[in-house]
Amino acid sequence: MKKIHTARHALEAHLVQGFLEAQGIGGEVRGAHLTSGWGELPVDLCTVWIKDDAQFDQADRLLVAFLQGRLAQELGAKSWQCPDCDEMLEGQFAECWNCGARRVQETRNP
Ligand SMILES: [Zn+2]
Repeated sequence: MKKIHTARHALEAHLVQGFLEAQGIGGEVRGAHLTSGWGELPVDLCTVWIKDDAQFDQADRLLVAFLQGRLAQELGAKSWQCPDCDEMLEGQFAECWNCGARRVQETRNP
């Protein structure tokens, strides 16, 4: 058993586990039902474990791609501001409905 992911809440842990199961990788969620006895730890701290250590590297790669995909989706759905007319637009629009300007992908260099 190897820990592959620490989730922020039970829902995320089960989402990750479900994704891995769908890829043929057996996983287990731990901590989802904790209510007490963990001292300072938040009760909703959940971890996902890989049952077969041999599958860990594969699971890790798949999971990274999966989480990045979700992240890209979330970012893609973010509203944006038209660079030409300053209209605020919903994330699903690729062009400004007001002036027809194309959406410019933000590139951020931290
Ligand atoms: Zn515009």
